Amino acid sequence: MEDIFQYADDLGPEKVIEIYDPSVSLKAILVVDNVAAGPSIGGLRMATDVSKEECFRLARAMTLKNAMAGLPHGGGKSVLFGDPAMPAVDKERLVRAFAYAVKDVADYITGPDMGTNEALMACVKDVNGRSVGLPREIGGIPLDEIGATGYGLNVALQVAQEFSELRLDGSAIVVQGFGSVGQHAARYLATQGARLVGVSDSHGARVAPSGFDVEALLAHKQAGGNIADYAAGKTIEAADLIAVECDVWIPAARPDVITEHNAPRMNTRVVAQGANIPASAAAERILAERGILVIPDFVANAGGVICAAVEYHQGSETQAMATIEEKIRSNVSAILSRAARTGATPRAVALEIAGERVRRAMEYRHTH
Ligand code: NAD
Repeated sequence: MEDIFQYADDLGPEKVIEIYDPSVSLKAILVVDNVAAGPSIGGLRMATDVSKEECFRLARAMTLKNAMAGLPHGGGKSVLFGDPAMPAVDKERLVRAFAYAVKDVADYITGPDMGTNEALMACVKDVNGRSVGLPREIGGIPLDEIGATGYGLNVALQVAQEFSELRLDGSAIVVQGFGSVGQHAARYLATQGARLVGVSDSHGARVAPSGFDVEALLAHKQAGGNIADYAAGKTIEAADLIAVECDVWIPAARPDVITEHNAPRMNTRVVAQGANIPASAAAERILAERGILVIPDFVANAGGVICAAVEYHQGSETQAMATIEEKIRSNVSAILSRAARTGATPRAVALEIAGERVRRAMEYRHTH
């Protein structure tokens, strides 16, 4: 049994709930990390290999992300053990049972994450009244459909041009994980003149030095195809995607994919972290020493939660996109300029700013 207290510090976690419902074989974990700024928002992830540690680390990333974005929300996260490819009817049954189990945890608002989607958030709303990332028909702003996070990554990289030698026009990009985040990031970056030269999903990886036709690749994925069976480009070992020469490398799949073992192989100018917690601290130290600019996860991929918060507070899609642009532009600019001035890494600067905001919010609250 993993001991959650080994991760506890001055920010949290506030509560960790293990959920078991034998009637539907539901096994899930909810971590509410910190609610000083307001009720926590964080995604519900479904996968077979999730863990309590991963759930806590993702909840902490949400605390920092929401604070960095100046949202009136704390951080939480939930994980549900199960194969995301299970039949839709079984998945809905599990998610409804999860929503029922957390119905009294008033300071947790469920959002979509890997393995869950807008339709499932509608089920959560139906059961306990608290979810974001809803379908349009019930007043939602479908953040994955409009590509809120991919849009934010694109804004972050536009700002990075001012602080590095990166020029998006004519640049080569690699995307690991061609789901909601990866697809939209590739689509938005293509509008800036970037070429997608390497891409992967859970079935395999491919490269095309002259660039894939992003619209055709999107159509292939939407028709149910995989990267491995796509006609253009050539197949490579998934583990070799890390070393593909490019200007921007975007992790947009699982945690802990950039490690101290493979970071020396990276051949990029910039890593823009679409996925949450994709790199270890040791890996980021190696990248910093090698002069590779890392735009940290809780800054670069905040587009989704900013969109979710705008939806929760009854804003429109236009307001959501404008808010993503404004917040990510000003945060990335502030972090990269302070990092350039002080020589600290962008993550160290961002941690300092977000941590300070959370601690200040905690001082405003005296519940006991
Ligand atoms: P998704 O389920 O839509 O897509 C995930 C993609 O990753 C799929 O294409 C899947 O095949 C692929 N994948 C899974 N395992 C892989 C592996 N080992 N190697 C290569 N590809 C693999 O999920 P998503 O919503 O795009 O989220 C991706 C990541 O971004 C997650 O870490 C998530 O927490 C993070 N994130 C998502 C959002 C959002 O708005 N959706 C916001 C912030 C952060």
